[in-house]
Amino acid sequence: MEHDATFGQRSRQFVRDLFGISGDEATPERDRRLPPGLQLADCVGDARAQVFEAMKAFMVEHDLPLTAGNVLAAHAVCSGSDLRLRRKVALQVQSGLPITQEWLATQAQDDRQDSDLSGQLDQMAEKLDTSVSDFQRTATTARTAVSDYGRSIEQSVSEVGDVQDMTAQTLSGWLEASQRMIANSLHFEERLRRSESEAQKLRGELEKVRRLADIDHLTGLPNRRGFESLLEEEIRKANENIEPLSVAICDIDNFKRVNDTFGHDTGDRVIGAVARMLAKLTDDKVHAARHGGEEFVMLFRGLPLDEAFARLEATREALGKRRFVKEASDEVIGAVTFSGGISDVFAFENPRLALRAADEALYRAKKGGRDRICRAGE
Ligand code: GH3
Ligand code: MG
Ligand code: MG
Repeated sequence: MEHDATFGQRSRQFVRDLFGISGDEATPERDRRLPPGLQLADCVGDARAQVFEAMKAFMVEHDLPLTAGNVLAAHAVCSGSDLRLRRKVALQVQSGLPITQEWLATQAQDDRQDSDLSGQLDQMAEKLDTSVSDFQRTATTARTAVSDYGRSIEQSVSEVGDVQDMTAQTLSGWLEASQRMIANSLHFEERLRRSESEAQKLRGELEKVRRLADIDHLTGLPNRRGFESLLEEEIRKANENIEPLSVAICDIDNFKRVNDTFGHDTGDRVIGAVARMLAKLTDDKVHAARHGGEEFVMLFRGLPLDEAFARLEATREALGKRRFVKEASDEVIGAVTFSGGISDVFAFENPRLALRAADEALYRAKKGGRDRICRAGE
């Protein structure tokens, strides 16, 4: 769940989604996009009331105590700000299973673990960045100072050559010592130069760490955070080249059974295998990412919706034909399948709504018997 957005922000986002208003705040200019005769204030009031009503019904229906966590969860479900949770709730209800405070808390925990890790990596990268910058600055300043010092000694040594009143012995001793100092300072300068290039290398490593924060460690695919940047980038490219763009959400079917029967490690391997199948579809215009848990998200740029659908469908069929066995014991796991929902990003007011439509299509695929892909709006 998104614990970072305040309740007010989420309500505003809900209203913006509802009326296709983009941007951080609804400005008077955007008001013009509202239906004629309708003031934004009325809509905000209406929409807020709708969310409140839905939340109230949700809490009462599932007999949830009025705790902050439950209210946040109810809002995430009723406003649609957390599609994954909304679908999970729908499936739970459909299967006749209860929605309890404990169950909601477990769902929230899964998501928090994802974002905590990525936040920690960010903080680490930030600290390293500051240290490397400081080190590089110090190294550069020190090298310049040593270099200036070396030059000034050289100059004074050459000036000393003109001094007549020094004995030859004193002079040669003094010259020798100075030359040793020059050699030392050159050596020191060289060492600092190397330190500077070390700092440069560290900076490269730091960039790698930054990229790691966007990668899911189990599958090597971009994680949800990585997907957010990919989505932004692909929308920009698709707009620039006037290309179609579709988004699909895929979810492994009855995955809990794999975990419960064969253990979490085997579950992890199955997630990895599905990730590799989806990754086979990727190139510079097609991307697969792990959205969380046993759920993946795909982006297809430059392909009409039907073609993107066909590609995903081919992967679904190919996966369905494979038979899995548990590595350690050769126990038969059998077939692993996934369901998916796909939507045309530009058929919606904003990408958030396109994702929601893909998720609703996925829900239909699950309800329709799983191991299938549904198109949004079908
Ligand atoms: P459905 O067909 O409706 O999707 O059923 P499901 O059993 O796949 O759905 P559900 O969401 O109930 O179960 C998903 C399970 O995936 C629950 C969670 O513990 C497990 N899971 C989430 N992340 C991981 C992971 O990284 N590794 C493993 N092994 N299991 C995970
Ligand atoms: Mg799932
Ligand atoms: Mg599943």
